[in-house]
Amino acid sequence: MTALDIPTIELNDGAKIPQLGLGVYLVEPGDTERVVSEALEAGYRHIDTAMIYENEREVGKAIAASGIPRDELFVTTKLWNTDQTRAPEAFAESLDKLGLERVDLYLIHWPQAMFGEALGAWRELIKIRESGRATSIGVSNFEIEDLQQIIDETGVVPAANQIELHPLHQRRELTGFCREQGIAIEAWGPLAQGKSDLLTRPEVIAAAEAHGKSPAQVLLRWHVQQGRIIFPKTTKRERLAENADIFDFALTDVEMAAIDAYEVGTNLGPDPRTFDVR
Ligand code: NDP
Repeated sequence: MTALDIPTIELNDGAKIPQLGLGVYLVEPGDTERVVSEALEAGYRHIDTAMIYENEREVGKAIAASGIPRDELFVTTKLWNTDQTRAPEAFAESLDKLGLERVDLYLIHWPQAMFGEALGAWRELIKIRESGRATSIGVSNFEIEDLQQIIDETGVVPAANQIELHPLHQRRELTGFCREQGIAIEAWGPLAQGKSDLLTRPEVIAAAEAHGKSPAQVLLRWHVQQGRIIFPKTTKRERLAENADIFDFALTDVEMAAIDAYEVGTNLGPDPRTFDVR
């Protein structure tokens, strides 16, 4: 199986992550092995899952069946909220389900600052990285104050912060802080989770027509042109190919600025500052 030629981003620990992958949130467990297998056949080498997606086992089956050498794959999973006080055990369970001896990136899924347990979890992730079973460690949905706390207390800067980010919600202050700290940005919901009118906006359609691309490709290109890591989710084979075919054109400054102007600052998913679901 031939890999797609996807650029990599160097993380602050020296590891390299493919800038584009496949996310499997809301991919049914019964569908996951097929979707991940089709993605790997299409040349994807980066898969983003999480314990709470309940499909780590099926991701692992597709990886095993592919026969692709482990070193050619980049696999991310995440520590769920209820597991912040038992990170070593939860991590071992995720590895077991994935059928892997190591993940490439392990993230704390939500800060849950109201419970005050993320710092302890971060200390455990540092040990997991030292053990070699996670090449890189990072966080997800962390605000500046959440990041500052774990950095101040441990001196270890997360390799990545995976946050809701799309043209309607660009998180400029947070991304600026991450840039200064050397924390890579992973944009979740890069297509606004299919919940917006972005794909039918005139500026997006005009850019798509100008470059012979689809509106979704224009939005994904807007992300990669800003150095972000993305893993749009789809269960459809033709969209797997479409979503990855974004490295042979460039949006102009004017086209980029038109999409930048969509910012309204509202999140489509939970607010990380108040998300207390466990
Ligand atoms: P996305 O922005 O990737 O949007 C997915 C939606 O867009 C689906 O409805 C999909 O439909 C549709 N879609 C995909 N490709 C196209 C296309 N080419 N044209 C038109 N529609 C398309 O949302 P996600 O929430 O899935 O985010 C991506 C990934 O980010 C997740 O899968 C997960 O890995 C991660 N994530 C992380 C979170 C966190 O808290 N850390 C929270 C949420 C997501 P269809 O499947 O029918 O193609």
